[in-house]
Amino acid sequence: MSYVWCHGPSCHTYTTTDRVRGSKGSKVLRTRKLKIHNPNYIHMYSYFCSNGCYNEFANKYIEQIIRIAPRTEPLETPIHDPKKTEHESDYTYSDGTRHTWTTTEIKKIDTSSDVG
Ligand SMILES: [Zn+2]
Repeated sequence: MSYVWCHGPSCHTYTTTDRVRGSKGSKVLRTRKLKIHNPNYIHMYSYFCSNGCYNEFANKYIEQIIRIAPRTEPLETPIHDPKKTEHESDYTYSDGTRHTWTTTEIKKIDTSSDVG
């Protein structure tokens, strides 16, 4: 079984009992150690003990992270013309009008058969 240390930059500062290490008189809060259960299934929790530690890492190194895959142009998903539908409830207000609302259906155009 292999291990990695949580990559959260402040992981070692949180006051939880599982982070307490060391002998009496010289105790420390230590970064959490994570087990790699399956090296073929690596995900964010393989390197971070929590969403908080992941977010702190991302916020601290955001410029470097963006350089991995910068987005200089927007992406687009083809859709059918949005379809608006008016609805009217059975509920009638005291002034005799009915509660109404509008929904808009947005459907993606299936392009899966275009790929491959
Ligand atoms: Zn952590």
